[in-house]
Amino acid sequence: MDFEFNEEIKAISDMASRFAQREILPRVAEDEKNHQFQRDLIYKMGELGFFGCPIPEEYGGSGLGFLAHAVVTEEISKVSGSLRAAFNMQTMGTAREIYQYGNEEQRKEYIPRLVSGEWLGCIGITESDAGSDVGAIRTKAVRDGGVYRFNGSKTWITYAQVADLGIIYAYTDPAVKYKGLSAFIVDMKSPGVTAGPTADKLGWHACPTGEIVFEDVEVPAENLLGEEGRGFENCMGSLDNTRLTAAAGALGVSQALIDESIGYAKTREQFGRPIGQFQMVQEELAQMIVETEAARLLTYRCAMQKDRGIGNTLETSMAKLFSCDVASRAADSALRILGAYGYSTEYPVERLLRDAKLYQILEGSTYIHKIIISNDALGYRKANR
Ligand SMILES: Cc1cc2nc3c(=O)[nH]c(=O)nc-3n(C[C@H](O)[C@H](O)[C@H](O)COP(=O)(O)OP(=O)(O)OC[C@H]3O[C@@H](n4cnc5c(N)ncnc54)[C@H](O)[C@@H]3O)c2cc1C
Repeated sequence: MDFEFNEEIKAISDMASRFAQREILPRVAEDEKNHQFQRDLIYKMGELGFFGCPIPEEYGGSGLGFLAHAVVTEEISKVSGSLRAAFNMQTMGTAREIYQYGNEEQRKEYIPRLVSGEWLGCIGITESDAGSDVGAIRTKAVRDGGVYRFNGSKTWITYAQVADLGIIYAYTDPAVKYKGLSAFIVDMKSPGVTAGPTADKLGWHACPTGEIVFEDVEVPAENLLGEEGRGFENCMGSLDNTRLTAAAGALGVSQALIDESIGYAKTREQFGRPIGQFQMVQEELAQMIVETEAARLLTYRCAMQKDRGIGNTLETSMAKLFSCDVASRAADSALRILGAYGYSTEYPVERLLRDAKLYQILEGSTYIHKIIISNDALGYRKANR
């Protein structure tokens, strides 16, 4: 399959690359060190149209599509994992979710604010006892006249403390399990919503992650997203999109690790010559390059299928699983190539390694994707619908 980009995708990819080098790179190390959330950069990325690729123009997007979304995500991720998160918070898990499952009023009201960066979004699936097992959610939304009354809590929610709007999953009818889960657009400033940070993290320090408690929160009935009882399907549909972003983010990490490794291997001398001339270093590099290219093919194929409207849960899982595992393997290789300097904060390799590890957890763990892929192959549960 040929991945020749059209002029528009080339232009936005170049713009994202220049933005990452000019605006993010000079401050990323300090912001990560100081746990400084980069709100201003999210505004700027919104203004530049980075969040609007898979959103039609009438809702404030560019309609450039999923492939454009993937390549922009990849460029930003090369420099900052923390800012990569915004591509799911502003686009795939919120704006695109509202576009796919919301009604016309909801689309007009919320999508332009999210893709422009005016409002910050968050996605509330995970709870203390509901990680991979989404059905184990306990948060309840009980209909009470014109509102749903929310009680429960979420954890590990990206942007929990700073979000204006949340796509929150809750049971409207716990008795029927998956068929009783519903999705809501929740105003995160509503009375009864409180958010605070989770335990400190290994990486993504410039990106807030928090817990949310809902105490008798009144959510207007019109904020139901899609139909009551369709929340599980919506959630899986949304994950199908957020997983593409994760694959693209991991791809950016792998490419950045290759670039760092090549630069270092050419200049670092041992035994009287650049270490790049040692065949074992070359072996590491060749492996990183080929695996990253394979991850790129899977990721771009996944994006292009989505652009063509093809249901591709299986191919999305393949792209997510492979690209995210490759990033961790590439981080191991880069650390071997850079030796002590790779372990220091002087080079970005240690940060990229921490970013890489997260991709094996988020948006369906490595094992969850292996389950999806093998169940499909065995005919136990077909992934594509
Ligand atoms: C920095 C960060 C940001 C996050 N942001 C968000 C967010 O914005 N919104 C949100 O909703 N969530 C978010 N999450 C949560 C994330 O989606 C979950 O961590 C993820 O779903 C995995 O759940 P868990 O960590 O509870 O692991 P668990 O589900 O407890 O899994 C632990 C281990 O058991 C394995 N396992 C579980 N079930 C099976 C099975 N059936 N078969 C085989 N192995 C299995 C897993 O693969 C894993 O290896 C975030 C997490 C982090 C760390």
